[in-house]
Amino acid sequence: MHDALTGLPNRRQFSSDLDNHLPVQGGERLSLMQIDLDDFKPVNDTLGHAAGDVVLRETAKRLQAVLSEGAIAYRLAGDEFAAIQRGGRLGQAERLAEAIITAFKEPFTVDGIDVFVGASIGIAIAPEDGNDGEQLMRAADIALYAAKNDGRGRARSFNRSMLIMLEQREMLRRSLRVALQERQFFIEYQPLAEAGVIVGFEALLRWQHPFAGIVPPNVFIPMAEADGLMGEIGEWVLEQACRQASAWPAHFTVAVNVSPAEFLRKGLTDRVAHILDSADLRPERLELEITESVLLERTTNNLDTLHTLEVLGVRISLDDFGTRYSSLAYLKNFPFDTIKIDRYFIRDVATDEKSQTIVRSIIAMAHGLGMRVTAEGVETETQANWLQKRGCDRLQGNLLSVPMSPDAIEGFLRQASLATQ
Ligand code: C2E
Ligand code: MG
Ligand code: MG
Repeated sequence: MHDALTGLPNRRQFSSDLDNHLPVQGGERLSLMQIDLDDFKPVNDTLGHAAGDVVLRETAKRLQAVLSEGAIAYRLAGDEFAAIQRGGRLGQAERLAEAIITAFKEPFTVDGIDVFVGASIGIAIAPEDGNDGEQLMRAADIALYAAKNDGRGRARSFNRSMLIMLEQREMLRRSLRVALQERQFFIEYQPLAEAGVIVGFEALLRWQHPFAGIVPPNVFIPMAEADGLMGEIGEWVLEQACRQASAWPAHFTVAVNVSPAEFLRKGLTDRVAHILDSADLRPERLELEITESVLLERTTNNLDTLHTLEVLGVRISLDDFGTRYSSLAYLKNFPFDTIKIDRYFIRDVATDEKSQTIVRSIIAMAHGLGMRVTAEGVETETQANWLQKRGCDRLQGNLLSVPMSPDAIEGFLRQASLATQ
C-alpha cells in the first residue's frame, strides 16, 4: 500500500481511504486535492531519472511538512500526488493548497543544480462537489485542469462553471478534426522590418470556427498537438505559406512556426524539401521558427534534423527565446540564424531596467555567436528606438502592422515603400 520511492501511501491506499471516508454525513467535510508537478518532465529528460527521483522524494517531504493534522498525502503515479483532508472547515483546503504552492516556489537542489518545479492543485470538497470517490476525483481533476490552464503554479477549487469551460473545449476539440477538410483554417502574415525596411513576413495560423468565431492559435494548437493532428495541419501551413511567398517579390522571406510535434515527426526535412520544390521557393527564403521546447526532447536526434535543414539552405530561428528552459548549450551546438526575443521582455523594455539588461545581454550574446536578433511584439516608437539603438536587427509587432490577410500584403508594401521614399 506504499510507494517504494517516496514512502508515501500509494494509489490503492488512496482509493481505499476515499471509500472508507465517503460519503460524509451530518455537516462533516472532506477535501480532496489533486497535486501535479509542473515541468517535471524536462527535469527527467535533461538531468536524468536519478534527478527526477530526487525531486519526487523531496516533493513527498515538502508535502508532509506542510500537511496539518488530519491530512494525508499520497503518490498516485509519476508526478501525480494527492492529499485528503478530513473535517475541514470551508477555506481550510484553500489555505493548505496555498501552503503547498509556496513550498514549491523554492528550488530543488539536484547534484548542486537548482531546478524549479512548481505544483498545480485542483481541490474538490465533499459533499458539495460530490459525495463518492469517483465524483470527487472527477471534480478535483477538472479543477486541476483549470489550474494548469490558468498558467500553472496555482490552486483552483472546483466550481460548476468549469464544466461549461470544459464542454466548450471538448466541443472545439471535436470540431478540430474536420477543420482541415472543411477549409476553416487561414493564415495571416505579420511583417518584419530591418532598419526600417520590410524584409519578410511571419505566417500565423487562424481558425475560423463555424459558430465560435476566430479561435486563437494558443487555444487550438495545444489541442491539435495532444490529438496528433498538428503534423497534418503544420504541413498545410507550410504549403500555403511557401506558395503565397513565391508570389511576393523575391527578396521577401517567409517565417513558419514549427511545433514540437511537427518537428519530431519523421521525414520533416523531406517534406520541407518537397514543399519548397513544388512552390518553387528558394530555401533561403524560408525561415522555420522552433521553440526551446523542441530542443528539450531527447527522443530523436533533433540536432541532426536541424543540421539537415541547414544543409538544405533553410534558415532556423529560435522563437520565444527566454521564456522556457533556455538551454544555452544548444546555442553553442547549433548555428541558429536568428534569435527571437519574446514579447514578455519587449513589453516594458522602454521603462524596465531588468528587461533592458536582459534584452541587451541577449543581443550581445547572439551577435557574439553570429546570430541575428528579432524583437517580437514591438508596439511603440519608444520601444523601437530603444531596440534599434542597442543593435537589435529586426523588429516585428503591431507598430509595423498587425497580422494581415495575404490579399492585404500588396497594398501594405506599396504604402510602406512610399513611406520610406
Ligand atoms: P509567435 O510565433 O511568437 O507569434 C507572435 C505572436 O505575437 C502572434 O500571436 C502575433 O499576433 C502576436 N503579436 C505580434 N505583434 C504583437 C504586438 O505588437 N502586440 C501583441 N500584443 N501581440 C503581438 P498569435 O498569432 O496569436 O500566435 C500565437 C502563437 O501561436 C505564435 O507565437 C506561435 O507560437 C503559435 N502559432 C501561430 N501560428 C502557428 C503555426 O502555423 N504553427 C505553429 N506550430 N504554431 C503557430
Ligand atoms: Mg513565431
Ligand atoms: Mg514568438
